[in-house]
Amino acid sequence: MSQQIVKRRSRGFICVNAHPEGCRCNVERQIAVARQALAASPRQRAPRNALIIGASTGYGLASRIAAAWGYGARTLGVFFERPPDGDKTATAGYYNTAALAQRAAGDGLFAAHLNGDAFSDDCKRRAMEVIRRHLAPIDLILYSLASPKRTHPRTGVAHNSVLKPIGRDFSSRTVELDSEKVVDVTLTPAAENEIADTVAVMGGEDWRMWIEALAAENLLAPGARTLAYSYIGPELTWPIYRDGTIGRAKQDLEHTARALNQMLAKLGGSAQISVNKAVVTQASAAIPVVPLYLSLLSKVLRAKSLEEHPIEQMCRLFSDFLAADRPHPADDAGRIRLDDREMLPEVQSEVMTLFPRVTTENLRQLTDFAGFQREFRNLFGFEVTGVDYDQAFETAVPLPDSAG
Ligand code: NAD
Repeated sequence: MSQQIVKRRSRGFICVNAHPEGCRCNVERQIAVARQALAASPRQRAPRNALIIGASTGYGLASRIAAAWGYGARTLGVFFERPPDGDKTATAGYYNTAALAQRAAGDGLFAAHLNGDAFSDDCKRRAMEVIRRHLAPIDLILYSLASPKRTHPRTGVAHNSVLKPIGRDFSSRTVELDSEKVVDVTLTPAAENEIADTVAVMGGEDWRMWIEALAAENLLAPGARTLAYSYIGPELTWPIYRDGTIGRAKQDLEHTARALNQMLAKLGGSAQISVNKAVVTQASAAIPVVPLYLSLLSKVLRAKSLEEHPIEQMCRLFSDFLAADRPHPADDAGRIRLDDREMLPEVQSEVMTLFPRVTTENLRQLTDFAGFQREFRNLFGFEVTGVDYDQAFETAVPLPDSAG
C-alpha cells in the first residue's frame, strides 16, 4: 500500500508522474459518454470479441471503451506501461487500465490486459494464449500503437522513429511548450535511414504480423475486421506530417491495409484505415507545429459546437461505420474519415487566417493554448475537475496481467 498526495511533476512540458484518481475520473467520463452516445446504436454488426493493440491511452483506450461499454464486447487490451514502483507512480496508461479493469469487473464485462512490448513475438504469443482461452474467435482488431521505437522481432535491430520533413527544410512557427514562446523553427530533412527507421516503427509491418499470427492460430472469426488509425490534416502540417517521415510510415500502413484487406476478404472480413482528427495525446504533442495548430483548431471547433475528443470520435467510428446497418461511405481510397469536421473548409479557413497572426504576446487570446495545456495535463490525471489534489490516494494500484 502506498497512499500519497500526488502533485504534478514535469520535465519540460512532459509530466513524469501520473495521478491514479485523475486517470480513474477520465476513464469514468469516457465510459459515461460511450454509454450515452451508443445506447440507441444498432447492434447487429457490433463487435463481440475485440483485440485492441495500444489500448491504454488516446484513441486505443477510447476505442476499447466504446466497444465494451457501447456494445458489451469482450476485450483484450495490449499496451506498454510502467507499473507503480514503491513511491513512484505508474504511468497514466497503467492507471487508466486499472480503472477500466475495476469498472469492467463491476459491470460484468470481460476485459483482459497484457502489459508488454506489442512488437515482440513473446507478447503476440501471450496474446494468442489469452485469446484462445477467453476471446476466440476475434471479430475486431484495432491497431492504435504510437511508439518512438521498435526492436524488430526477427533482426533484433532497434529502430527509432523521427518526426522530420523529407527532401527539404521546413520552416514554420510553433509554440515552445516549456517557455510558451511562439517561435519560427526550421527542421532539416530526414536522412534515408531515418525514413526507413520511422517506417519500421510506425508503418504496417507489425500490424500485418499481428493479423498473420491470429490467422495462423485460427483465431479469426468469419467476417473479422481490422482497422489502423491514421491522420492527414491540413496543408500547413503536410511538410512535417503527411509528406514527412511519419507520413511515409502512414503510407506504408495504407499499403498494408490493402494487403490485409485481400487476405481477410477470404474470410468475408476487411482491413481499413480510419483517418481520425487531431487530438491532444502524448503522441501528437510531440510533433512540431501540431500543438499550435491544435490550440487554434479546438478554439474554432468549439465555437462551432463541433469539438470532439477521442471518445466522441470513437463512438462515431462505431455508430456510423463499424456497427451501423448502413455504414457511411468510405473515401475514394477506401478509408473511414472521422476528420470530416476538422477538415471543413470553414474550420480550416479560420485556423489558417489566425495561424500567421499568433505571437508570444497574443498566444492565450488568439488560441486556446490554456485548453491545450489543461488537456495535456489531464492525460496524466492532473487538473481533472472533481479531483481533490490535496488528498492522499493509493498509488500502488494492482492490475491483473491476463497472460496465459
Ligand atoms: P497514444 O500515445 O495516446 O497511445 C499509444 C498507445 O500505444 C498506448 O496505449 C501505449 O501503451 C501503446 N504502446 C506504445 N508502444 C507500445 C509497445 N511497444 N507495445 C505495446 N503498446 C505500446 O497515441 P494516440 O495519439 O492515441 O495514437 C494512436 C494512433 O492514432 C496512432 O497510429 C496515431 O498516429 C493515430 N492518430 C492520432 C491522432 C492524434 O491527433 N493523436 C490523430 C489521428 C490518428
